[in-house]
Amino acid sequence: MKEIRVRFAPSPTGALHIGGVRTALYNYLFARQQGGTMILRIEDTDQNRYVPGAEEYIIESLKWAGIGIDEGVGVGGPHAPYRQSERKQFYRKYADQLISSGHAYYAFDTEAELEAMRERLKKAGVDHQQYSSFTRMTMRNSLTLPAAETENLIQSGAPYVIRLKVPESGEIRLHDLIRGEVVVQMSELDDKVLMKSDGMPTYHLANVVDDYLMKISHVIRGEEWLPSAPLHVLLYKSFGWEADMPQFAHLPLLLKPDGNGKLSKRDADRMGFPIFPLNWTDPNTGEKSVGFREAGYLPEALINFLAFLGWNPGTEQEIFSMEELIKTFSIERIGKAGARFDIQKATWFNEQYIRLKPVEVLVKYLNEQLTKEGIACSPEKAAKIVEVMRERVSFPKDFFQQGRYFFQAPTAFDSAVISKKWNTDAAKFFQALVAALQGTARFDVETLKVTIENVAAGLGIKAGQVMQILRVAITGSSSGPDLMMTIEIIGREETLNRLGFALSNFQIKATAS
Ligand code: GLU
Repeated sequence: MKEIRVRFAPSPTGALHIGGVRTALYNYLFARQQGGTMILRIEDTDQNRYVPGAEEYIIESLKWAGIGIDEGVGVGGPHAPYRQSERKQFYRKYADQLISSGHAYYAFDTEAELEAMRERLKKAGVDHQQYSSFTRMTMRNSLTLPAAETENLIQSGAPYVIRLKVPESGEIRLHDLIRGEVVVQMSELDDKVLMKSDGMPTYHLANVVDDYLMKISHVIRGEEWLPSAPLHVLLYKSFGWEADMPQFAHLPLLLKPDGNGKLSKRDADRMGFPIFPLNWTDPNTGEKSVGFREAGYLPEALINFLAFLGWNPGTEQEIFSMEELIKTFSIERIGKAGARFDIQKATWFNEQYIRLKPVEVLVKYLNEQLTKEGIACSPEKAAKIVEVMRERVSFPKDFFQQGRYFFQAPTAFDSAVISKKWNTDAAKFFQALVAALQGTARFDVETLKVTIENVAAGLGIKAGQVMQILRVAITGSSSGPDLMMTIEIIGREETLNRLGFALSNFQIKATAS
């Protein structure tokens, strides 16, 4: 059996898109499950699109996400170098090989000549105005020029490209592991440039040569590369590498949250969610983007979420650790249909993972915020706060942001509740409660429950009537975690202060009658 070797092959043209993280993840899961090798290759042959810092960003993102690399940039390995800009000699050699075997040719056409060709075809009513078997014999290339002239042009340093000579007829077939049979007529392909005039290979040549040299067994990549796959198959054939051709699996697109079209950075910006794994500042525009990491998504939650964007286990289980994903993942269960990018689902996964964290970790989240705010808190109090809040938060920062009232008296109060619930009964209840709470032996949930019940009963009212206004007086808000526990944590002195504040500041609404 062929050794399983997969690669993630991003181009360092900017921040890694979240879809790229999913591609890397699926490659990684497949490699780990099959006992194979996961390779990171940087495809940086397009000098015009190179963005400084992008490569480091890719590496850091994968590391944060827990996607391990066995071989490649930053790690090394038997097929080094893994950065395409350092592999130029290979591409040249293989392009020459295609020329010698008659599968490629030199083309000297200028931009103006190419434009004239396209114009000619347009006038003749041809839909695709391309350099192909249909037009190549009318152009200036080594197929139409005498051999000596071609030789001369090359010797004299005239600019040229190397183009693939696509056969005039026939079809190309490939079996995609996700999409099934893909058949394309040769007549639909153009004579793609393989080597550019600057001596750099195009994506197609470099990608195929490297997949071959690096012994890649499976090419798992985004659907946007499906149209290139037949050309890649043709390249394998032209080189005579058919026996070593990898299997292809083109992953479904990530769609906008409403399912209408491909997810773009613009959509994410507009809807206020991240699209990059980590913070990113565009070096050209200075534009800053918040990453999933900085927005408070845990890597394991993001991974779980991404795993489900295109794949499902076929069971009800939704929470999968990386280990479980490695065991359960299969290419057969990847769908063809685009996957809706539902950020709420990502947040839901985050909530689930926060709940699963040990108290110490949650305390750490809370303490990070407290340190920033310069607020001291005992370890016991911190542990109680995270316990009472863990079911309610979505992000680590929420422990402080939603639980500020554990440390500071509220300054804003839910006015709708005040105008509805603050009446003479409530005021009497608060007064009696202040008196009662001053003298209890203990100040814990049990004592609070009993005291509140007794005080209410003594006034002939139901405790339920005054609970909401009590919560507003203590926290400012009409909803929150368990109120008795909240009061216990806030403590006797501060609770009495807040009740006193309510008594002197809440206004009883004058009734019309
Ligand atoms: N360099 C391509 C990219 O940026 C790689 C496509 C492939 O995996 O073949 O996505």
